[in-house]
Amino acid sequence: MAKMNGNPMPIKDVLGKLSIDELRLKGKRVFIRADFNVPLDEHLRITDDSRIRSTLTTINYAIDEGARVILASHLGRPKGKPDPRFSLAPVAKRLQRLLDKDVIFSPDCIGSQVEHLVAKMKDGDVVLLENLRYHPEEEKNDEEFSKKLAGIADYFINDAFGAAHRAHASTVGITKFLPSAAGFLMKKEIEYLKGVVDNPIRPFVAILGGAKVSGKIGVLEHLEDKVDKVVVGGGMAFTFIKAMGNEVGDSLVETEMIETAERIRKNLKAAGIKFYLPVDCVIAHNLEPGAETKIVPTLEIPKGWKALDIGPATVKLFSEALENAKTILWNGPMGVFEVDAFSRGTYAIANAVADAYALTIVGGGDTALAVHRAGVTNALSFISTGGGASLQLLEGKELPGIAALTDRSTAAV
Ligand code: AMP
Repeated sequence: MAKMNGNPMPIKDVLGKLSIDELRLKGKRVFIRADFNVPLDEHLRITDDSRIRSTLTTINYAIDEGARVILASHLGRPKGKPDPRFSLAPVAKRLQRLLDKDVIFSPDCIGSQVEHLVAKMKDGDVVLLENLRYHPEEEKNDEEFSKKLAGIADYFINDAFGAAHRAHASTVGITKFLPSAAGFLMKKEIEYLKGVVDNPIRPFVAILGGAKVSGKIGVLEHLEDKVDKVVVGGGMAFTFIKAMGNEVGDSLVETEMIETAERIRKNLKAAGIKFYLPVDCVIAHNLEPGAETKIVPTLEIPKGWKALDIGPATVKLFSEALENAKTILWNGPMGVFEVDAFSRGTYAIANAVADAYALTIVGGGDTALAVHRAGVTNALSFISTGGGASLQLLEGKELPGIAALTDRSTAAV
């Protein structure tokens, strides 16, 4: 039930950086850094092409504008040398189908062969370079390597939001040598994860989950003066519950985070922000698929049992907390949703978020997968394509790949 899908309101420009639609691309060689780091099965078939599809708007725009499009990405961890298991050749094939046009695959990302291929390109042609990480210089942000990448292009476009938190040659180094702009996916990620989250329409509810408090502390601290309600589920809830002096059986607790958790909870309370924790949970001795499970109040988890999902009363409580929300941010599953027996809470919250009459933003990685499995992807306003990058942006940190782009105020293109 998407009531605010697409662009529900004019989003302010929060970028301050040059963007692809401000460049004249006709006849130019445009190096687009994409995130084609897709999952492959043992036969090297792509099992999920959403990362490729999410950057099609940028690629199609560049083609339509008459650019000579040079695409580059990393895939997996080939450890700085060629390895066919991490080749981008399957991506070239898939792209060809999705773009409905020829994609010329270059067997390396630098060298005379690439230069030759690029020299032969006509306006609107597309070349995909082989995995950038076949060269150790990529992850070292090596200046010579960056210069070589830049040498085949007139403009650099970064659309690889998922890699924007890494300072590599193809995300940062290259920007020293070319006018550098954000692609449409990059812009959209920043507009939602920074623009909307930093200036939310209130009430603003943040739902946080996942395994560890330590992974989400930065987000909680950054949101402290922006949210109206904080809902905490998943494994991280039990560090908060333990910090309040309760027993949690064998549930996940980060002992070293207990003090921090209590400080944050008290700060939120003092600021008048409502803070919700699970009131009941699904417990088991272990994660085995056939393991015995029970639903118990959170304060009655016996020794030897672990809380692995939120229970039905918690689903009701959390869903009610979302009822008047105008903006909802969700990052982190409510339980071990990878195992069927502990997935219901996460899927129920996915549905509650999808049903809310609000702008709904989902942080990447596990939560995006959960939303997809719950079948509500299309009912949400925005799902981030980045895991680590989206967390860093939600923590209010500067991402090197974004910071390195050309400032709009100084752009002379
Ligand atoms: P994160 O990367 O911190 O967002 O954590 C995601 C992981 O947290 C998922 O793989 C879940 O299986 C796990 N998780 C969620 N709830 C729990 C829980 N109650 N106990 C242990 N792990 C959990």
